Amino acid sequence: MTTGTTASCGPTTPLHSSNRHGLKSKHTMKASITIGGKKLNIVWADIEEFGTYCHDSACIALNSSLKGDAMTAMDTLRHELMHAALAISGVGFGITQEQEEQIVRCMESIFFPAWDQLNQDGLRWGRKAEKRKAKAKAVSTRQRRAKRWKEG
Ligand SMILES: [Zn+2]
Repeated sequence: MTTGTTASCGPTTPLHSSNRHGLKSKHTMKASITIGGKKLNIVWADIEEFGTYCHDSACIALNSSLKGDAMTAMDTLRHELMHAALAISGVGFGITQEQEEQIVRCMESIFFPAWDQLNQDGLRWGRKAEKRKAKAKAVSTRQRRAKRWKEG
């Protein structure tokens, strides 16, 4: 899935000041998340991108137009959180912005769909496995009872 999200503010180039994020009171949402021990503020902003992460200001900005689109807002937030994780871990400082974007988009379009599928199928598999286990237990209980009855 492509959200069209970009992080134009990489971990090594603090392009975005808080003014660039448009942190006017009408755009401020009182939300934050702690990731890797770093507290990030999450704000709505009038930006061109779907979202941005700025390491120096510890801020994720989400495009104000996503206020009415919770799914895209959450996908964008997850995308920016991956940028934050790479920067906070230090991985983001050893790669170019293009390489970082490739990693994030790989996770976004390949890893998470597989993870979501695993969660769904895994649960179904789990229920089937429990039924098989219960059936096997019932059979072995019947066999033990039959054996005991035979032995008398
Ligand atoms: Zn990005």
